[in-house]
Amino acid sequence: MKLIPHLIDGKAIAQQTHEESRLAVAELRSRGLVPGLAVILVGADPASQAYVRSKDRVCLELGMHSVKHELPAATSQAELLAIVEQLNNDPAIHGILVQSPPPAQIDERAVIRAIDPRKDVDGFHPINVAKLALGESDGFVPCTPLGCQRLLIASGIETAGANVVILGRSMIVGKPLALLLMNKGMGGDATVTVAHSRTRNLSEVCRSADILIAAIGRAEFVRGEFVREGAVVIDVGINRVEDPASAKGYKLVGDVAFEEVAGKCRAITPVPGGVGPMTIAMLMANTIASCRRFAGG
Ligand code: NAP
Repeated sequence: MKLIPHLIDGKAIAQQTHEESRLAVAELRSRGLVPGLAVILVGADPASQAYVRSKDRVCLELGMHSVKHELPAATSQAELLAIVEQLNNDPAIHGILVQSPPPAQIDERAVIRAIDPRKDVDGFHPINVAKLALGESDGFVPCTPLGCQRLLIASGIETAGANVVILGRSMIVGKPLALLLMNKGMGGDATVTVAHSRTRNLSEVCRSADILIAAIGRAEFVRGEFVREGAVVIDVGINRVEDPASAKGYKLVGDVAFEEVAGKCRAITPVPGGVGPMTIAMLMANTIASCRRFAGG
């Protein structure tokens, strides 16, 4: 039977989240507080430059303070750490983000560890990873997993007791998302399976999912036979594939073969316009939360 799936509109849900952020910023401003985000980019990777520009633009649109450090590709580890230290000590900054991936001479893990965990709005510092694992809510959760959870909650999709299969075990998406969805509380309490490149009988494992989340970085890898009829599918993947029909010569597709899978689903996210817009929305929400915490509530 071909189902007509509910299309989970990430753009609209992100817009809603931005509206909440705008109100929160206005309330903080009325108390003389302005949430501040600093983004550091080392090198001139065009995709990273575009991400940094859009973070800056959204910050300003929401009434937040935004600082951009665009550093030359040859920046040394010591120079980068000095900027992180300066931002750690800057009371106008509540969130610090170093755009990934940095050039080869930079030890990204050391840079993340140098960020004050109270300003680590990306949620990658070991203190914040530990807080997530412990189920403590006063840390920061990485923005893409948080965005996936927000999409599920906003779409009224129950996670409590649901079988969730996450494809991918990265520290950016799969692993923190598994922790988030298995933790107790709203948008959690799921029974989570994490699959990866060494998983046996992958399509069978995926078919056991009430909610299937794909985050592997393989264009249209998840085919119809991976999905149980009536499942919910969240596609985190963003992959460029050649498209001679497009002016750019490429188009973006997810990790899910959308046309083939959509007819079997109860609900599905598109790419683009699904998880993507949520990541930046949650970054703003985390920065606002940080500002509040620094102010004592
Ligand atoms: P990653 O670090 O490369 O991790 C990919 C994961 O997928 C790994 O755990 C890997 O398994 C697993 N995997 C790869 N090929 C597989 C296969 N054939 N079968 C089963 N598992 C496989 O990627 P990532 O950073 O998590 O990103 C994943 C995707 O999400 C990418 O398309 C990325 O562009 C996208 N993404 C989107 C957003 C957003 O804002 N929407 C944010 C972040 C990432 P092993 O561990 O065994 O190698």
